[in-house]
Amino acid sequence: MTRNEELFLRAQKTIPGGVNSPVRAFRSVGGAPRFFARGAGPRVWDADGKEYIDYVGSWGPLILGHADADTVRAVQEAAMKGLSFGAPTEAEVELAELLVQRVPSMEMVRLVSSGTEATMSAIRLARGFTGRDAIIKFEGCYHGHGDSLLVKAGSGLLTFGNPSSAGVPADLAQHTLVLDYNDAQGLRDAFAKHGKTTACVIVEPVAGNMNLIAPKPEFLAAMRELCTQHGAVLIFDEVMTGFRVGPGSAQGLYGITPDLSTFGKVVGGGMPLGAFGGRRDIMEKIAPLGPVYQAGTLSGNPLSVAAGLVTLKKVAAPGFYDALTAKTKTLVDGLAAAAKKRGVKFSAQSVGGMFGVYFAATPPTSYAEIMASDKEAFNRFFHAMLDGGFYLAPSAFEAGFVSAAHSDADIAATIAAADAIFAAG
Ligand SMILES: *Cc1c(COP(=O)(O)O)cnc(C)c1O
Repeated sequence: MTRNEELFLRAQKTIPGGVNSPVRAFRSVGGAPRFFARGAGPRVWDADGKEYIDYVGSWGPLILGHADADTVRAVQEAAMKGLSFGAPTEAEVELAELLVQRVPSMEMVRLVSSGTEATMSAIRLARGFTGRDAIIKFEGCYHGHGDSLLVKAGSGLLTFGNPSSAGVPADLAQHTLVLDYNDAQGLRDAFAKHGKTTACVIVEPVAGNMNLIAPKPEFLAAMRELCTQHGAVLIFDEVMTGFRVGPGSAQGLYGITPDLSTFGKVVGGGMPLGAFGGRRDIMEKIAPLGPVYQAGTLSGNPLSVAAGLVTLKKVAAPGFYDALTAKTKTLVDGLAAAAKKRGVKFSAQSVGGMFGVYFAATPPTSYAEIMASDKEAFNRFFHAMLDGGFYLAPSAFEAGFVSAAHSDADIAATIAAADAIFAAG
């Protein structure tokens, strides 16, 4: 038995499924998850000492790679001065100012400890601001595990949803309408029927939790127009896309101004941190200024803020996103070309530093299309890559991430490994 397998057996005795977040368990691809001992730059080492080039990057946060020296130093220095105060600090004001400066739609921002907290709070705020209960989300988009968001489509067209998790009250799920991603007409129909009672639309402006699905520009534009028309709050959930797809996040890339935005992952530089913010008139409804309650003992934690500050400063270096975008595109173009040469039904695409690989002839544009891709082919490819020392997300329904630490040689080695796997069939 490998050390990974031993640890997995041991973990399962005390931690449900052996993991502290379900996709880590490798259920989708099979086999024992890799327990990591160490990471540096683009590489990670597992409990058996095997080295991998990592394309998960802690599911997105590690845009500078593992154990970035500047980030680690800043966290160490912050730790020496105190781990938490439960009182304001200068550094969190600096981070808030940076966020507001980089993302023009955000006039005010509040820091929290995770992406889930950010989206839950933004939804409550949208409901409190509008005095309405209904929310609209899109199938396949993930917005953390808040009750109102763990909802699947109802049985009829434009009917409200059912819980997608046990423990979510049906009474709550019935306020969530689940529509198809990239379906602007579906959204128009929903607003025609439910516009008066809809508090908000929440969307991943580039979907990254059903593999990567790129938005059709008319979809995001229709969303902005309909929310304005009907007095609903448009929430861009940029927990994954924030500072990942470009310097102004997805809203900068596509030129759409949401009312509220949520952040996580990259903004915490690998430490637990989230943020939500947006229009001043909406943000002023939060306690202690307004009637919408939201709080957190560790919110604005000094270690997380220190990591976030360094990360946001480093990604502002001239050409940072041009280089990251080009590198990620080289990877997906190389993979797609190799597959084509070998006659494998495969496609790939990227947006900034995130990418999707699909065992489908063309990149999917909806949840239904991604579900129709060849999951078994992905699983075989995943395990062959893993054996070869390349760590991809352990599911056909997750996006991948490239960091600034990945070298051209790392990318070339990854393409060469995939080519050999495609060639072997
Ligand atoms: C990861 C993610 C979340 C949840 O963030 P956590 O920090 O895991 O709670 C929410 N929305 C999107 C788009 C995400 O990718």
